[in-house]
Amino acid sequence: MRLPEQAEYVILGAGVHGLSTAWHLAKELRARGRGSGEDIVVIDKSGVGAGASGIACGVVRNNYFQTAMRELMAHSVSVWESDPEAFSYHPVGYMQVSPEVMHADVVQIFKEQQAIGYPSTLVEGEEECREYMRGIFHDWRAENITSILHEHRGGYANNKASMEGLAAKARSEGVRMCTGVRVTGLRLEGGAVSAVETDAGTVRCGRLVAAVGPWVRDIWRMLDLPKKIPVRGHDGALHDREMWTYWSLQEGTLGVNPDFLMDNRGNMPPVVHVDTDAPLYDEDGELVTDDLWGIYYKPDFNFGGVQGGTSPYVVDRPADEVAVDPYGPASRDFVVGEDFARMWTSALAHCHGRFEGKGGLFSREPSGGIGCFTPDSFPVFDTFRQNAYVIADSNHGYKMIGVGALVARELMDEPQDLLEPFRFSRYETGKLHPTSNSPFPWS
Ligand SMILES: Cc1cc2nc3c(=O)[nH]c(=O)nc-3n(C[C@H](O)[C@H](O)[C@H](O)COP(=O)(O)OP(=O)(O)OC[C@H]3O[C@@H](n4cnc5c(N)ncnc54)[C@H](O)[C@@H]3O)c2cc1C
Repeated sequence: MRLPEQAEYVILGAGVHGLSTAWHLAKELRARGRGSGEDIVVIDKSGVGAGASGIACGVVRNNYFQTAMRELMAHSVSVWESDPEAFSYHPVGYMQVSPEVMHADVVQIFKEQQAIGYPSTLVEGEEECREYMRGIFHDWRAENITSILHEHRGGYANNKASMEGLAAKARSEGVRMCTGVRVTGLRLEGGAVSAVETDAGTVRCGRLVAAVGPWVRDIWRMLDLPKKIPVRGHDGALHDREMWTYWSLQEGTLGVNPDFLMDNRGNMPPVVHVDTDAPLYDEDGELVTDDLWGIYYKPDFNFGGVQGGTSPYVVDRPADEVAVDPYGPASRDFVVGEDFARMWTSALAHCHGRFEGKGGLFSREPSGGIGCFTPDSFPVFDTFRQNAYVIADSNHGYKMIGVGALVARELMDEPQDLLEPFRFSRYETGKLHPTSNSPFPWS
């Protein structure tokens, strides 16, 4: 579609957040008699699901140590459940399987899930955990596991198909999609964004929503916002911190038939996330690590095997110099090689007897990508420059399909309690989210 000269709402990015915001905003405008989807233009330099949303592993879970994240996820899971077919969503549940060092955190998460009516089962004790897991997988054998949190909602969705489903919903509300159009600058007048400059012309706007995933660094710069920001630490003092840091998300697929990982009854099992401090050995009996390690995995017909990943690592380069394009495994700053394959396949075999000797089936097809993280690794949902709403999910966000519904209400000038803990001002006030004992920056 041709870029219009003017639109009341211009949304940058056709990933989960841009599309969900567009769809929900169109519905809000219509319900209030304040307009329709035709007042909204979504701009994407490539196309629907061309960014992180289109390569995500697709896990939808609520295993968060941070109360604010948990409540927001419960809301998002409801949106996934509202139309599983359109979103290509598989509600198989999710399991967090943990060692003693994480036990207390997991108990707290369970209690808080119960308090908000989120259905889950807590299993405690080494023998009890083994028995519970063997009730699902006969060949379970992971060591040093003393707690399991089994979430009965959540699961996973197919990345590209779910984005197409969201885009169809937005289009059916009349939202205009301009794909193949790259934003090159933002015109600031009187402190607000008056127009969006692109390689296909300029569009004047009333409100801007920036939902550009790992490219947020570029839009931040166009908004003339600082590279470093003051963050109040636990010592009460302000410290200058980089606003954006890139991490490399290591993922891969074991080339077996997905049926290989069905549960004892032959059904799709929950998504499994295992953390443990048991020493990890490879197929040759060589030590891989004796530090705390973690993996997640699921059988996945979309990826064509057993797909999953391990903890990410920081891209050792200033954010300005990170190569986001070309995105995904093609990025020069995304390097996942033999170390990952060895670790992840050894870890699968540590957990299940069925994976013993299967390391050679690791798929050489590249997968994974980079994510852009905030100073505390949690999202920022806030307005900058008077009329620019920035959705920066700090790489938590495929599962956060419901954020767009809340942002849409905020664009109707109705502040949302669920988004309040994610304001930018928390860095200066020191109201940061608590950190857990998990080896992952997103738990
Ligand atoms: C390998 C990997 C696995 C992941 N797995 C999960 C998971 O299992 N569960 C989970 O919840 N999260 C997961 N995530 C995180 C999740 O994918 C992201 O947090 C989320 O998809 C971000 O959505 P978004 O809409 O903000 O951005 P994106 O989906 O990245 O969309 C941004 C869009 O903006 C467009 N764009 C960028 N710059 C411009 C410009 N200048 N002009 C025009 N358009 C532009 C891009 O083309 C892109 O389509 C994973 C991430 C990665 C990398």
